[in-house]
Amino acid sequence: MRKLIVATGNPGKLAEMQEYLVGLPWQLELKPKELDIEETGKTFKENAALKASSTAKAMGEWAIADDSGLAVDALNGAPGLYSARYGKTDEERINRLLRELEGKDNRQAQFVCAIAIARPDGSIALQTEGICPGEIMLSPQGNGGFGYDPIFYVPSQQQTFAEMSPAVKNKISHRGRAFAELLPQLKVLKVDSR
Ligand code: IMP
Repeated sequence: MRKLIVATGNPGKLAEMQEYLVGLPWQLELKPKELDIEETGKTFKENAALKASSTAKAMGEWAIADDSGLAVDALNGAPGLYSARYGKTDEERINRLLRELEGKDNRQAQFVCAIAIARPDGSIALQTEGICPGEIMLSPQGNGGFGYDPIFYVPSQQQTFAEMSPAVKNKISHRGRAFAELLPQLKVLKVDSR
């Protein structure tokens, strides 16, 4: 097994990644709390690469990072990179988004997830991006999931993210799609160069 540092302080994220990477010869480990990386990128892709690269370099190990968020068409892509900082709580973030969309006909949006894997020298070995298109509801619906899930409706499933079973959400979500693209590449990745 080869060590893969997850560039997050969030154990929930590590557990989620572990599920996607199950059966692969990588042992996931959380990055140390002291290692703080500023997300200064201008895109999800840049932020994922920045986090993976800085973590890998600082620790001299392979590292994986993701960056995700919700982009709403009528708000020119907001909250986007600021999805986590759009309010103090999930409820505040949802209410702010619904307020800003009041009176707007176009409710199209997409969740985006970028993933990057970096070599121990900080160079990027793999990068993928997954997108899940949907629409913003007029009011929250469903009790599952987290974040903006109750207001994100996926027409192909006729459900919000918060109404889906975790298995369905994991398959069709932006994160699920980014990992689906990543896995075959990770399986054939050359890892001897360290
Ligand atoms: P980060 O990728 O951990 O920085 O998270 C970005 C933010 O985007 C989260 O705090 C959530 O607010 C939002 N977000 C990302 N993915 C999802 C999702 O699958 N459902 C709901 N909200 C999400």
